[in-house]
Amino acid sequence: MVYVYAFHEGNKDMRDLLGGKGANLAEMTNLGLPVPPGFTITTDACRAYLASGAEPAELAAEVDAHLIRLQDVMGRRLGAEADPLLVSVRSGAKFSMPGMMDTVLNVGLTDASVAGLAAQSGSDRFAWDSYRRLLAMFGRTVLGVPGERFDAALDAALAGALAGAPATARHGRGVAAENELGADDLEGLVTAYKKIILDATGQPFPQDPREQMTAAIHAVFESWNGERARLYRRAERIPDDLGTAVNIVAMVFGNLGESSGTGVAFTRDPGTGEPGVYGDYLPNAQGEDVVAGIRNTLPLAELATRDPASYRELLDVMKTLEGHYRDLCDIEFTIERSKLWMLQTRVGKRTAAAAFRIAVQLVDEGVIDLDEAVRRVSGDQLAQLMFPRFDTSAAPEPLATGMNASPGAAVGAAVFDSARAVELAATGAPVILVRRETNPDDLAGMIAAKGILTSRGGKTSHAAVVARGMGRPCVCGAEQLDVDLAGARFTTPEGTSVAEGEEISVDGSSGAVYRGALPVAPSAVVDYFEGTTCFDGATGLEEATGLEEATGSGGGNPLVEAVHRIMTHADARRRLGARANADTPADAARARRFGAAGIGLCRTEHMFLGERRILLERVILADDDTSRAKALADLLPAQRGDFEQILAAMDGLPVTIRLLDPPLHEFLPDLTELSTRLAAARGRGERPGAADERLLAAVRRLHEANPMLGLRGVRLGLAVPGLFDLQVRAIAEAAAARLAAGGDPRPEIMVPLVADATELALVRARAETVLAKVAERTRADLHARIGTMIEVPRAALTAGAIAGEADFFSFGTNDLTQMTWAFSRDDVEGKFFSRYLELGVFAVSPFESLDVTGVGALVGTAVADGRAARPDLALGVCGEHGGDPASIRFFHRAGLDYVSCSPFRVPVARLEAARAALGVE
Ligand code: ADP
Ligand code: MG
Ligand code: MG
Repeated sequence: MVYVYAFHEGNKDMRDLLGGKGANLAEMTNLGLPVPPGFTITTDACRAYLASGAEPAELAAEVDAHLIRLQDVMGRRLGAEADPLLVSVRSGAKFSMPGMMDTVLNVGLTDASVAGLAAQSGSDRFAWDSYRRLLAMFGRTVLGVPGERFDAALDAALAGALAGAPATARHGRGVAAENELGADDLEGLVTAYKKIILDATGQPFPQDPREQMTAAIHAVFESWNGERARLYRRAERIPDDLGTAVNIVAMVFGNLGESSGTGVAFTRDPGTGEPGVYGDYLPNAQGEDVVAGIRNTLPLAELATRDPASYRELLDVMKTLEGHYRDLCDIEFTIERSKLWMLQTRVGKRTAAAAFRIAVQLVDEGVIDLDEAVRRVSGDQLAQLMFPRFDTSAAPEPLATGMNASPGAAVGAAVFDSARAVELAATGAPVILVRRETNPDDLAGMIAAKGILTSRGGKTSHAAVVARGMGRPCVCGAEQLDVDLAGARFTTPEGTSVAEGEEISVDGSSGAVYRGALPVAPSAVVDYFEGTTCFDGATGLEEATGLEEATGSGGGNPLVEAVHRIMTHADARRRLGARANADTPADAARARRFGAAGIGLCRTEHMFLGERRILLERVILADDDTSRAKALADLLPAQRGDFEQILAAMDGLPVTIRLLDPPLHEFLPDLTELSTRLAAARGRGERPGAADERLLAAVRRLHEANPMLGLRGVRLGLAVPGLFDLQVRAIAEAAAARLAAGGDPRPEIMVPLVADATELALVRARAETVLAKVAERTRADLHARIGTMIEVPRAALTAGAIAGEADFFSFGTNDLTQMTWAFSRDDVEGKFFSRYLELGVFAVSPFESLDVTGVGALVGTAVADGRAARPDLALGVCGEHGGDPASIRFFHRAGLDYVSCSPFRVPVARLEAARAALGVE
């Protein structure tokens, strides 16, 4: 097995094997840029090392062979006493993890070779400076000595150096800067550092250069599993099993006096995308000094006067890199006695705004085409641009930090009760709903609130899911907070208390909660979407766009212009349609403005909350057909009104209405609460009324140990006579009314939780009868497609049969995930998901991003069998995954017709659908 590649043997496409740093060092070498020679040990070697705890047998010999070649090229031997070759041992994984893993510089210096280095360079100071850097870096990262011990010794040396200086040089400063340390100071520091290492490890600092190198290589391998690296990977969704490569690079020295130095640069402004010279430079310094903020850096442009030749060469190199990578690059360089060396490059990280602007600028410069521009921005970046943000430039101190469950910035008065939130919001006051956790009873309060804060629950808790659906900022699981609902206040561990009515700021993008009102900047990109409609390639429905005229050049806002151009192109390229999940006319209208081609999921359960709950309660409690029919008839006008308004908002576009799904007990009082209340009444000698007794009996009867697997969905429709009939009738009458008013209603009826074709056949037959009756009575030309959700594994496995009864399938991937994994979504997240993430069972919660391997296989089966049985079967998805970028790309590949997601995510879905069509995996 080949474990080691010389730089000239690699290239930029070998990031899997050589890591990003190694692959790009190879690429720059082959471009003829001035890169110090070196070689890269592969990620294969790292994985083998981490798996077995030891180097693979062949590695040492391969490294030796490459080291010999490197020594020949350099004309120096590693750590030789007279004229030593020094190397850096650098980490570098496939995905950039800046500063998260280890690097050791100046490897090869020993008590003997430090003199040789001094002779070779003619500078004692430089030699001791390099040695003390090696000792501190090696001590800390390879030997595990606490870094503070080296820092303390350095501080003492800095103080001592200045104490010896003349008063005029001190200028009232307590200590010297590092570059003011003389050779003697640095030699003293070397002695101190060696003692620190001996004391801490019981062993002297290794004086064998090759032994240093091996130890450093192992330390870099191990840094893959360091705490920092693991946290970073989890946050960035980088898989845990990639491992890091190790780069061995001949040292070049920026700490060789004033004609030397080190710097970092971007080939264009990472904030705006403007081409130009952006970077920092630090004379007489090495490695991390620039970013460590030890001394003040110079703007890169000053290099033009300090060293015009190197500066010109650097600009040339940057131009070459941009031309080659066709993108913004960031670079690390060092100048050794006026000779430029390139130490790193990569396609640079950038803000979401810069990503859009840079992509469009590169199109205008003729460097890339619009397809490529669409590939280069992401749905996540677009989502970031759509959230209002707090201006945190004043660095306010958060009261607490929880999970960033639904992004955005919200300011309002803390309110601890849903009804109170509604009441206050009705007066026009912005409120933040604060709860321990939320449940369906809090829905009204959540709608009324500007933001939501809970002290319990994870990213898929009720609060988080609902908040994301509504586009409300939400921080959940802020466990430091003691939420006292009865006392209407919360308290931090430090004892700070916030009472009802006091203003707080909730940052759903970072998870931070602040006291008081932080300034908020609204999103220009949302304003732009609010003002437009779009063309939907999937349905062939062309909306009058008027967009070019309306925004022209983006209203002078270059970011909006960039978003507009990219979205316009994305809409032309995508195959997958984008619908919205919307339950209210207002949401439907907004979804339409955001480019939705219809509603993919209109949930009807929300229509039975509030004062209508009592009507449904009567349906549930009815003990004979007449009283049930009466109660149902009372619900009819309200349901019909809802549907009429939603069909009006989505005129001409499909509206998929899901018949009632949740277990009935959700509409009844809580069992424990009710029985305690009645028991207390009895305790006081009162006799509960007959109505209360009946209610309690009904609640007991409907109580389920496992409601998610109980009487819900299609089972309700089959078990409660008349319930689905009522809903279908309301839909039909609403459509008839819209037709009479000259509208173009396109309702679709969706049956939830079907597991067997017979269930759907029964509901379908009833629904068709009801539709026909209404059509006859109203003389309207009524059509409604009837389909089903595929959200029970059995439905996916019998999709062929079910397709015989369905005009469409809509994958309910929340329930499908829940039932495929046997995870109760409401329970598992806070309990053990973080452990599962840590253990690498999955890299991301399967509720956040579709589990392609498992749940995706069921989707694939259902698509294939459904289409085989019925070629014109329409296929969509309406779970939360419909708004998740990676899942959207999977649904494209799976051949669905559309995804449906919350209105706010519709632009994200449009963009990701196009990226999928353009080959982004
Ligand atoms: P990171 O991945 O954290 O940026 P690097 O491996 O890039 O770590 O190295 C840390 C610093 O040391 C960088 O500033 C880099 O430019 C510098 N450096 C690395 N190798 C050499 C070398 N051979 N000669 C001089 N400086 C080096
Ligand atoms: Mg670096
Ligand atoms: Mg469901």
